[in-house]
Amino acid sequence: MVVALRKPPDPALWLSAHAGEDIHEMDGDDFEDLLAVAFQLRGNVVELTEHFDRGADIVVASGRERWSVQAKRRDQWVDRSAIDQAIAGMSAYGCTAARVVTNAVFDPDAIAYARTRDVTLWDQKDLANLLTDTGVGEASRSKAPTCPRCHVPMRYKEKHGAFWGCPNYRTTGCRETARYHHLNLNVAGDRRTPEAEPTRRRLFELFRR
Ligand SMILES: [Zn+2]
Repeated sequence: MVVALRKPPDPALWLSAHAGEDIHEMDGDDFEDLLAVAFQLRGNVVELTEHFDRGADIVVASGRERWSVQAKRRDQWVDRSAIDQAIAGMSAYGCTAARVVTNAVFDPDAIAYARTRDVTLWDQKDLANLLTDTGVGEASRSKAPTCPRCHVPMRYKEKHGAFWGCPNYRTTGCRETARYHHLNLNVAGDRRTPEAEPTRRRLFELFRR
């Protein structure tokens, strides 16, 4: 089987062109390139698929493994269709495993479905670890937005969606909500400092309350 694959971008050139960019604001192509750069710096062999792809955006080789990676730059929950796409890509590109990587989070149905299909899901916390481990990006916890009506800090909710909601919802019924990202993700500035373990530990602490 012959498939057309594109070469991934050169990491140094790509990073200097995109230094400091907000990853949540990227278009889908830039987000694919971001992942291609990060996986290369992680030591993997990376190929990008043709644009009208057959389910995989990126093919990543690591030892004997070959993963089909579906990249989802999203503002909302990622649903199970992404998992079907990753599986389709796995067979189209002769891969041994499938993975979906997003800047956002997966809905509960997608998480359960991925388990039954043996697809690995990387949400924004996993992405943050990949980016900081490789020096490609920086992550920090978002500051809680203020409710425009009640002027109190909003709380991050993940049970029935992923969003910031007003803490007065139960008492006054205030239904104000704000954009859901609870993690800021940016491409690293010009000085790249790949430091693997300390960063990972720091991030892990960041995610515990
Ligand atoms: Zn409110």
